[in-house]
Amino acid sequence: MFGLKERRRARLRERPFPEEWVELLDRCVPLYRRLPPEDRAELHGHVQVFLAEKRFEGGDGFAITDEVRLSIAAQACLLLLHRETNYFPVLSSIIVYPAEFVARLRDEDENGVVWEEDEERAGESWSLGSLVLSWRDILEDREHADEDLNIVLHEFAHQLDAERGEMNGQPPIADSELRDEWSSAMLDAYESLADQVDAGRKTALDPYGAEHPSEFFAVATETFFQAPRRLQAVYPRAYRVLARYYKQDPLAWLEGGAPEGRKRRGN
Ligand SMILES: [Zn+2]
Repeated sequence: MFGLKERRRARLRERPFPEEWVELLDRCVPLYRRLPPEDRAELHGHVQVFLAEKRFEGGDGFAITDEVRLSIAAQACLLLLHRETNYFPVLSSIIVYPAEFVARLRDEDENGVVWEEDEERAGESWSLGSLVLSWRDILEDREHADEDLNIVLHEFAHQLDAERGEMNGQPPIADSELRDEWSSAMLDAYESLADQVDAGRKTALDPYGAEHPSEFFAVATETFFQAPRRLQAVYPRAYRVLARYYKQDPLAWLEGGAPEGRKRRGN
C-alpha cells in the first residue's frame, strides 16, 4: 500500500543528486567513502527525503551550510540503508551549535530538593522532536575517521531507539527471533562493559556505553560502523545482531583497509 507520503518520498528519492553534493560527501564523510557504489546510490535517495523533511537551525549564530546539512543527513541516513524506514518520524528539527553546548540538568531528590547542574554536551536527543549537535565534534570525528566515535551516528541511534516510545536500548524489531537474540546479546555485552568500567579496566568500547542500555546501543552503533573489527572481536554476538538489524556488514567495507584507532569521549 502506498500512501501519499510514500509517493512523495519515492519522488524525492528519484531526484537527481547534484554532482557537487557527491564531491562534498566524498570529502566530508569518511564512512561514505567506505560504502559500495550501490549503497551510495541508495543513500543519495534517503538524503533527499531527509533534507526535504527535516529542518536545520543554527544555535549561537552558527550558519547552516550545505556541508553541515549533508554531513549530518548522510551519516543519519546510513542507519536507514536496506531497511524499511519511516525516516526518524519523531524528529522534526536538528539544531547545530558551533561547539559543545551547555545542557541544564534538573533533578529533584526524595526530599523535594531541586538541583540544577550545567553539563557540556556534544550531542543530545530530545524527546520533543529536536536533536542538538556540536559542529566542532562532528569535525573532530571526521578528522579521526579511523577511530570509533561518531556523534551523529550516536544521536540518530537514540532516535531509532525512541521511535516507539521510551529509549531502552531496543529499537522496534519486527522479527521476534531477532528481538530475543538482540535482548540477550546486547544485555550480555552491556553487562560485560559495565563490569569492566566498575573494575577500572581499559574498555574496548567507549565506557559511556555502560551508563544505560540505551547508551550501550548508541555506542555499539558507533563502533559497529566506525570500528567494526573491534566490535566483532570483543562482542561478536552484538556485532551479529546489529548486522541483522541494520542489514549491513561494515566489516566487508574494510577489506585491506587501514587499522582502527581508539579514542574516548562521553555524551
Ligand atoms: Zn547518548
